[in-house]
Amino acid sequence: MGNVIEVVRPIPGSDSPPLVVDSRERIEESYGDYLSDESRYGPAEADRLIIVRDEAQVSDALVSAADAGVNVTVSAGRTGIVGGAVPAGGVLLSLAGMKGVLGIRRLPDGRFTVRVEPGLSVAELRERLLTKDLGVDGGEQDPAARADLEAFLADDRTFFYPPDPTEDTAHLGATVATNASGARSYRYGATRRHVHGLRVVLTTGGVLAVERGRCLADGRLFLLEGSDGSQVEVRVPGYAMPDTKNAAGYYAAENMDLIDLLIGSEGTLGVITEVELFLAPSPEGILSALAFFGSDEDAVEFVKHARGETPAGGSTDAVSPLALEFFDSRSFEFLRRRKAEEGPSSEIPELPDSAVAGVLFETEFTEDTLFEIYEGWESVLSEHGSSMENTWGGLEESELARLRALRHSIAEQVNGVIARANARYPVIHKIGTDAAVPPGALEEMFGFYRGELDGTPLEHVIFGHIGDNHLHLNIMPSSPEELRDGKELAMRFARRAVELGGTVSAEHGIGRIKHDLLRLQYGDDGMRQMADVKRAFDPSCVLNRGVVFPEELL
Ligand SMILES: Cc1cc2nc3c(=O)[nH]c(=O)nc-3n(C[C@H](O)[C@H](O)[C@H](O)COP(=O)(O)OP(=O)(O)OC[C@H]3O[C@@H](n4cnc5c(N)ncnc54)[C@H](O)[C@@H]3O)c2cc1C
Repeated sequence: MGNVIEVVRPIPGSDSPPLVVDSRERIEESYGDYLSDESRYGPAEADRLIIVRDEAQVSDALVSAADAGVNVTVSAGRTGIVGGAVPAGGVLLSLAGMKGVLGIRRLPDGRFTVRVEPGLSVAELRERLLTKDLGVDGGEQDPAARADLEAFLADDRTFFYPPDPTEDTAHLGATVATNASGARSYRYGATRRHVHGLRVVLTTGGVLAVERGRCLADGRLFLLEGSDGSQVEVRVPGYAMPDTKNAAGYYAAENMDLIDLLIGSEGTLGVITEVELFLAPSPEGILSALAFFGSDEDAVEFVKHARGETPAGGSTDAVSPLALEFFDSRSFEFLRRRKAEEGPSSEIPELPDSAVAGVLFETEFTEDTLFEIYEGWESVLSEHGSSMENTWGGLEESELARLRALRHSIAEQVNGVIARANARYPVIHKIGTDAAVPPGALEEMFGFYRGELDGTPLEHVIFGHIGDNHLHLNIMPSSPEELRDGKELAMRFARRAVELGGTVSAEHGIGRIKHDLLRLQYGDDGMRQMADVKRAFDPSCVLNRGVVFPEELL
């Protein structure tokens, strides 16, 4: 333990050279997909695309770019919605070719970890863990690593990686770079909690090999030491982070772990080339159900009760939710309207007539606990005008399919409405908020959304991770004027979330498009302190310039 960490040499691993495409035209013609992410942010351009195969190639690419003063944008699964992987000229560095599972380790406390390359997706890791078909060549490992791998394979249990970002094509390196989270983060926490180790290549060419617990700040100071004896000081920003799920800006705290500074830094400090993730034994089963309520207020009260906050209710120990996801009355109205417009061919499931709002909940169960859990949920639901009879899901596959279809259809329908408005007015895009607030401020924030939006013509829905007090408000402007009004409102909502002690971004990050929101949260001073951290890691300031904070600060 301590606050000095050595910068080590990169590891070559592949016999194949990187794929290098050196012409803007060829990138646009043959590799156009690499120029955008789900934000559709632009204009995007790249002079050179490099698809690397190993860590040494990452290091070579970064050193050449830094020497030439050329910007580098890091690209992974491109499911981001804040433009972080969208290049603004220079080199586009893709890690998609690095997708191996490198090994299994058993820690002294008995837990297993898995080491993977950054380009492996969340879905691919899930599948490999489930089948235990990891593709690791035990013969190439040292004896201790081989023994750990064999112990993992011989274990009767299966294991899983708990974080569940909605887009499971996301690459694991990027989920660490963005500290991704998902519905089950209510119970399991965001990605940060599940990362044991990282290898991160710096633009100077060296590698930080970081393991949790090994490098702690001295107050708010770290020292990085090069193999040539050079030292770099890193001063942790002085701001206080919100007490919520958070993906806005750099992690900063007294005596913090260096690994936490790197997690969630959105590729601005270095390129992650290896991640070591904690695994957990798979639950025997997961009960998923969507309950319906007569009003938004009933649904919110139910959530508070399920979280154990309502003094009126009995014990909620039995229900112990993994996830609590909300659909407000506007969401259901919107789906009903869209279903009617689409006619008989619509794939949107028919909602019960009495359903005004809904909450999806999930709980782990075993054969022994299932009855108790079912009864526990029944008791909580009954206090809020609902019941297990009045839910979709449970253990029935057909019901679960209906539930999944409903969940999927909200985002899909929102995107469809936006696409139609966009065909008429190309400037139009969805306005989505990503704010979270501390538990005591949930109703106030929800009421604020409602108070500001009711009475306006702006079409909108509110849904998402209510267990974490993290609601996604989606506004669908139908004209440039509505777009302007919606954007003004989004700023007002972000400001209110910060006033209530919350964050402007709980899971999507800041990327290239939310600098103004980050400034609301940490002020100009906080932004400058983050830029100082970046300069310490990336002295030539070529890596992901314009991501997290504006280029002018560098
Ligand atoms: C419909 C939809 C739903 C979503 N839901 C969620 C959700 O529930 N939870 C959530 O957290 N996010 C969500 N997202 C956002 C996105 O899926 C996550 O941010 C995800 O982690 C991005 O992974 P990716 O592989 O697509 O990365 P990309 O979009 O390719 O990159 C994301 C950022 O990481 C950087 N980066 C990528 N790889 C590396 C690396 N190896 N080293 C350093 N930096 C790197 C990039 O430069 C960029 O800044 C959603 C997106 C969509 C479109």
